[in-house]
Amino acid sequence: GVDGHSPPVYPSPKMNGIGGWETALHKAQQWVKKLTTEEKAWMATGQPGPCVGNILPIPRLNFTGLCLQNGPQCVEEGSYSSVFVSGVSAAASWDRKLLYERGNALAKEHKGKGSHVILGPIGGPLGRSPYNGRTWEGFAADPYLTGVCMEETINGMQDAGVQANAKHFIAYEQETQRIPTYAPDANATTYIQDSVSSNLDDRTMHEIYMWPFANAVRARVASAMCSYNRINGSHACQNSYVLNQLLKTELGFQGYVMSDWGATHSGVSSIESGMDMTMPGGFTEYGELWTEGSYFGKNLTSALKNGTVDMDRMDDMIVRIMTPYFWLNQDRNYPSVDASVGPMNVDSAPDTWLYDWQFTGTTNRDVRGNHSALIRAHGAASTVLLKNEKNALPLRKPRNIIIAGNDAGPLTQGPDTLGDFEFGVLANSGSSGACRFSYLSNPLEAISARARKDGTLVQSYLNNTQIVHTGLEALAIPQHPDACLVFLKSYSAEGSDRSYLELDWNANAVVEAVAKFCNNTIVITNSGGVNTMPFADNENVTAILAQHYAGEETGNAIADVLYGDVNPSAKLPYVIAYNASDYNAPITTNVTTNGTYDWQSWFNEELEVGYRYFDAHSISVRYEFGFGLSYTTFGLQNLKAKTKAAGNLTALPEKRPVQPGGNPALWDTVYTLQAEVSNTGDVGGYTVPQLYVEYPSSTPAGTPPSQLRGFDKIWLRAGQKKTITFELMRRDVSYWDVVAQDWRIPAGQFTFKAGFSSRDFRSNASVTLIS
Ligand code: BGC
Repeated sequence: GVDGHSPPVYPSPKMNGIGGWETALHKAQQWVKKLTTEEKAWMATGQPGPCVGNILPIPRLNFTGLCLQNGPQCVEEGSYSSVFVSGVSAAASWDRKLLYERGNALAKEHKGKGSHVILGPIGGPLGRSPYNGRTWEGFAADPYLTGVCMEETINGMQDAGVQANAKHFIAYEQETQRIPTYAPDANATTYIQDSVSSNLDDRTMHEIYMWPFANAVRARVASAMCSYNRINGSHACQNSYVLNQLLKTELGFQGYVMSDWGATHSGVSSIESGMDMTMPGGFTEYGELWTEGSYFGKNLTSALKNGTVDMDRMDDMIVRIMTPYFWLNQDRNYPSVDASVGPMNVDSAPDTWLYDWQFTGTTNRDVRGNHSALIRAHGAASTVLLKNEKNALPLRKPRNIIIAGNDAGPLTQGPDTLGDFEFGVLANSGSSGACRFSYLSNPLEAISARARKDGTLVQSYLNNTQIVHTGLEALAIPQHPDACLVFLKSYSAEGSDRSYLELDWNANAVVEAVAKFCNNTIVITNSGGVNTMPFADNENVTAILAQHYAGEETGNAIADVLYGDVNPSAKLPYVIAYNASDYNAPITTNVTTNGTYDWQSWFNEELEVGYRYFDAHSISVRYEFGFGLSYTTFGLQNLKAKTKAAGNLTALPEKRPVQPGGNPALWDTVYTLQAEVSNTGDVGGYTVPQLYVEYPSSTPAGTPPSQLRGFDKIWLRAGQKKTITFELMRRDVSYWDVVAQDWRIPAGQFTFKAGFSSRDFRSNASVTLIS
């Protein structure tokens, strides 16, 4: 059960370099010996500088400092850099190779701009509530899929030589009251109301929220970011259970924990609880937090000198920070910081800088390479086809089309998408995940180019108000278009949660107005996540595509799908319900009492997150998790065991020395299944066969009826058949036993269900792993 209490766990474990960091660890240990006490304190304290987070250079050691930079979709507001598909789009592709490529290309651009650390990828928010403002930065409302996305992205990033940062640790599921309410005149140290506390039970912590971070640690992620919220009453950045126990002991995390910006609420306690670096920091003892002062800096120097903080712990902090740096060879010829990126603003450098950053390189460096081709392919591969009736799609040389909606055209308010602007396609969103487009392919332009080749007449109506008030009947000449493409959007961003799930700018009325006139209305959405889609019931709405925030090639990518150059293959990474009121786990809002700790968010739904909830309560949904159409059809049959389970499988894993990711026994393949997948239609296409597990009845109550435990993305020619394999790791068939404090395979019969979504099972297999 949930008791809202977080047990103390001390001391903070030291890293040992296990799992491949041994040599780098040795270098870091030698390095730390050269530092003075002040320098040690500084290295754990952020400082204003060219990047969103900075660790100062130490010229006498030829250390050029660390540049930490957002973020999940681009180099934050970077000039001459690419805007990739967003996290939620990438997750919708269910494509491991795409996720790796995206992470790798994004990291190459970061490196080109001189950032050592990318503040991403995002393993939380997971999307416990669809109202969360940041779901687009993260991946899927499912720990398994998000875990795969984390692992592939981190591998891609770190293979390019840039440190990744798994954020936000942990159970950070709402923006509302993520930061305490401070007293009016205070220097942000006294608060009236503390940040919201995510109160969750141990099993839910392990099976839902921690799961993707286990994948991240397994991928040897360099750093983790502790989140703004409290967890069971204690701030994430000074929660010793979460940092010392879960992250550093159980998962064997070898890197460093940095605070989210302003998430540090103490010095010594945070350090003892396992936090290694404070951001954005500040050296002075007093003064406004966020600009000059912090709990670290000079305060930390004093604490070291008077023995309040152990030098041993301090050294472990530095070694954790420097080991990934040496491991990725960032000490050798790393590009200098290109100060032309948004937060890297040389012109407003404060005088508080102790050392000048060396801007040896050129500014406005072009780091885009040939990534636009990749991004176009990713945009198409990430587009989910939700409805396609009466042969609406693909388009076949239409004679007369209408392009409607305020999301169809070019950006009209500059090269970034900060804020909910009315006119222009939405391909990214605001706050720390904001990008700056060097160009943005918009749907109107991309489709018009195709139309010109086909001789198609294109009429565009991009003003939602005009469409609703005047109606297309009065506007379109000639009438009787072959198709009406309606582009609509939904803005959500860090800092606040959504107040509704509908599309923005009166979108539902726009669709109704278009559909009244046009019996082949095709709706395309650019959105950060869930939208209710009442118009899906309208029979004149023949097709619906969800493209999310698809980056700089949005227009070309959607044209590729609409015209059938790319056969859609993406699948929803969350549930689209019939009604907003169908979702559980609402954001905690409107706490009107004034007690310091009154903001409490009880995760009483426990494991019933996303589709797990809808399934457990048999609630019908409009489009289920894992659903997405293709221009062809697929079959799946004959799910069966490939190998028998290892004869001596034990319920609890053998205790082996912890590696990054935890007990390595959890990652052993314990069972393998196979199925036959066939393309039963007329065109080639990718499909995503999915495997869900239904645990034996002996599993403790609250276990969801179906949980994703495997998927593959394969190409099949028309008529082709392939055998696919699902490898189940021990973790995939275990539940977290709160008494044993370990992962246990339950006794009795499992049912494995394979198919094409969380509600479209084509073949089952019953298996007993432990009798
Ligand atoms: C966000 C982080 C981000 C940081 C630095 C915070 O407000 O929560 O995701 O990395 O700012 O911009």
